[in-house]
Amino acid sequence: MPQVLLPEPSTRERPRRQPTRSGQRYFIRTFGCQMNEHDSERIAGLFELDGMSPANSFEAADVVYVNTCTIRENADNRMYGNLGQLKAVKDLNPDMMLVVGGCAAQKDRELVREKAPWVDVVMGTHNLDRVLDLLDHAEHWGPITEVVDELQAMPSSLPAKRELAHSAWVTIQVGCNNTCTFCIVPSVRGVEVSRRPGDIVREVERLQRDGVVEVTLLGQNVDTYGRDLAIDGKRRPIFGDLLRRVGEIEGIERVRFTSPHPNDFREDVALAMAETTAVCEQLHFPLQSGSDRVLAAMHRGYNRRKYIERLAMARDTIPGLAVSTDIIVGFPGETDEDFDLTMEVVEEARFDQAFMFIFSPRPGTRAASMTDSFVPDEVIQERFSRLVETQNRISGELNAATVGSRMKVLSEGPSRKRPEVATTRSRTGKVVHVEGDYPSGTFLEVEIVSAAQHHLVGEPV
Ligand code: SF4
Repeated sequence: MPQVLLPEPSTRERPRRQPTRSGQRYFIRTFGCQMNEHDSERIAGLFELDGMSPANSFEAADVVYVNTCTIRENADNRMYGNLGQLKAVKDLNPDMMLVVGGCAAQKDRELVREKAPWVDVVMGTHNLDRVLDLLDHAEHWGPITEVVDELQAMPSSLPAKRELAHSAWVTIQVGCNNTCTFCIVPSVRGVEVSRRPGDIVREVERLQRDGVVEVTLLGQNVDTYGRDLAIDGKRRPIFGDLLRRVGEIEGIERVRFTSPHPNDFREDVALAMAETTAVCEQLHFPLQSGSDRVLAAMHRGYNRRKYIERLAMARDTIPGLAVSTDIIVGFPGETDEDFDLTMEVVEEARFDQAFMFIFSPRPGTRAASMTDSFVPDEVIQERFSRLVETQNRISGELNAATVGSRMKVLSEGPSRKRPEVATTRSRTGKVVHVEGDYPSGTFLEVEIVSAAQHHLVGEPV
């Protein structure tokens, strides 16, 4: 069952108000990455503390929150499409309150207003804690836009309503100090701000008391965690130490994190992963391209050799490590030779999973202005198909190699498509389908009996 979790009194930003929306229903639509999912959990937590309960659809809701993304054009287009649909819903139910938050609202507040003037509240990524006040304001005084540039409250200091009672996101850092030329994150999430390690540990301890057994530490570049902090004016906390501290908390069985950066990933983090039992053998290691020329144009800070060396170090240090990656196809100026270099790395690295994207220019990024070197769509499509085919083959081969092995998996409850089957996850992050009724949060030992490209099938042993 989803749960609402209150923050510790010491981390509360302000006195809690009395619920004013009892009986109302809310619906949240989230686009984009885990950071947005995490923010949506916090928005849901605030709504529930104000007396609201979830609705199953836009139409059944009194308050709709659309959490937007600017990273991918697709998400952007779908978001504006959704706002169009919501106009029709609002015409039928003019009392419905519509809030647009997230990265697109942070960056393009005027555009959101212009394209969807029926939105009641436009708010950014830095002021989640204001959502209820902004709703009140819009109800009494009309539409409002409030986007601020400075972080008002760490998302983790707000109440949360988690989808999985046993599993929680924990923000350790927001913002990013890098300047990847395709990425809008630094301009919508700001510079890196790390949470103090003691606050993070206390939050995880509290989550554990609340029944959580798995946490995912969340940051844009977790490897640089703590660089902006100084403890007693001396030593700054580092990510490897944080992993060890969180991994030692009794009752926390699994610790994951996302995302590390190949340029900043060092042996101390790999050692912390290997030496801390609770930290899972799973690493998301974004490649983006296998060509040094393209990596330099992307401003990634590493080259192909460094990436491969660090990946090898991680695999040598952490037995049984599963690796996933991100790859962008068709970055401006990418030639056939550049793409072949990416394919070489894909063949050599043998990623368990890859999130593959077609380059889409995001307004406000440097890459979006490289129009002279945009790669023709048909060329990108052909490269993308080849990449997907190759990666699917590799994922299938790696999954097939697990048949006959045993794994401890953690149930996430019945599969949405086939409720007679439980969706579970291995420590390495692989989805394992197991026939039977295993409530969310149940650990079980399974033998893998068959494998497909994107999931495994297990039988309890
Ligand atoms: S590391 Fe690069 S891609 Fe990741 S959030 Fe920072 S700027 Fe964006």
